[in-house]
Amino acid sequence: MAKLIEIVKDETIKVSSNIINYDKPSTIYIPYNNYTSLINLNTKVAIGTPLFKTKNNLITSPISGTTKKYQKVTTLKGELYALEIINDYEESKRIKPQKKISLNKILKANLEKLLNLEFNLDFTNKKNLILNAIDDEPYVLTQNFYLLLNYEGFLEILDKFAKMFALDQVIICLKDTSSENISKLLECLGMYPNIELKILPNLYLLGNKTILLKYLNLNTESSLVIPTGVLYDIYNLIKRNRQKTDKLITISGNALANPSIIKVKIGTSLIDIINDIINLNTKEVTYIAGGLLTGKVIDPSNFIIDDDIDSVLIMKTKNSPPSTKCLECGACLDVCPVNINPLLLSNPNYLAKVKSKCLKCGLCSYICPAYINFNKYLNGGDHE
Ligand code: SF4
Ligand code: SF4
Repeated sequence: MAKLIEIVKDETIKVSSNIINYDKPSTIYIPYNNYTSLINLNTKVAIGTPLFKTKNNLITSPISGTTKKYQKVTTLKGELYALEIINDYEESKRIKPQKKISLNKILKANLEKLLNLEFNLDFTNKKNLILNAIDDEPYVLTQNFYLLLNYEGFLEILDKFAKMFALDQVIICLKDTSSENISKLLECLGMYPNIELKILPNLYLLGNKTILLKYLNLNTESSLVIPTGVLYDIYNLIKRNRQKTDKLITISGNALANPSIIKVKIGTSLIDIINDIINLNTKEVTYIAGGLLTGKVIDPSNFIIDDDIDSVLIMKTKNSPPSTKCLECGACLDVCPVNINPLLLSNPNYLAKVKSKCLKCGLCSYICPAYINFNKYLNGGDHE
């Protein structure tokens, strides 16, 4: 097991526990990539109207409104075309999923099929289910808040899964810093003897599925790890008969007066959120999508909140110290959880060999006292 480290944080950055609802954007943008369009332009849509599909996936509208045009947007995947939908705010216009699902009556085979098709979750031969409520990145609390807001419904679903799939273990994993979640769960877990709470130390990368399973000493083949954000979507579909329309995102950093968890419609433009609810305390800022260690510096003007993103950090722009010559301290080798030698990453042959093994955790760059940035080799990451 790799040595895990605690990330030093700026303790003055505090994320508020009051969730901000940003659920009425005037316009949303639905990126699509290799999808077939199911809708024409200038057409009325309701919440749940199918917009795009692939063989295994269906994208539906998160708002009611009118499809307007296709335009280029930026996402974590890069530049993509997106469908612009103008909101008519008629939230009651909602297309329900074809069949109402009852958690009490659903057959095992149907539940398996639904989880497989809608969420890419396969319970075949699984003995352990792990609910991952760990936010690894500093100043990000998104997974934590999915649990905090929905823990009663989540426990009910986990209990159902435990019984229906005859699981040996159902474990909720949290870090010891999640005190509010811990106390809420401890109050309820007496009713669910088949669900266990594991309180883990605040060490970086325990939220990574591979590292987490190693830490818990569980076998990959017989274990299924579900992030709380995914359980939220399952909960909405199974318990509330609602398709996915919204998500949580943490917007924090030292350039904000109000670091917050925000509930947004999928497809909301980041710049709309910033203009409407974020109070910046300085002008010179850097936007990082996806976290301090693993994220990317972005231009927020055309950036869209899609499925892939659960945090944006807004940091005071600082001139990073220039990298110097390697001090040959060996820290980057020691810290790599998958035993890659970062010193060899500039060699294209070595990079090709290890790139798929790399967790893109950013630790090698974070730890380096000579400020050498390995992200440029590994993921095109461009911040230090
Ligand atoms: S980013 Fe890749 S090479 Fe660097 S420490 Fe993480 S796993 Fe190792
Ligand atoms: S951590 Fe930085 S200074 Fe130390 S060996 Fe690695 S590249 Fe060199």
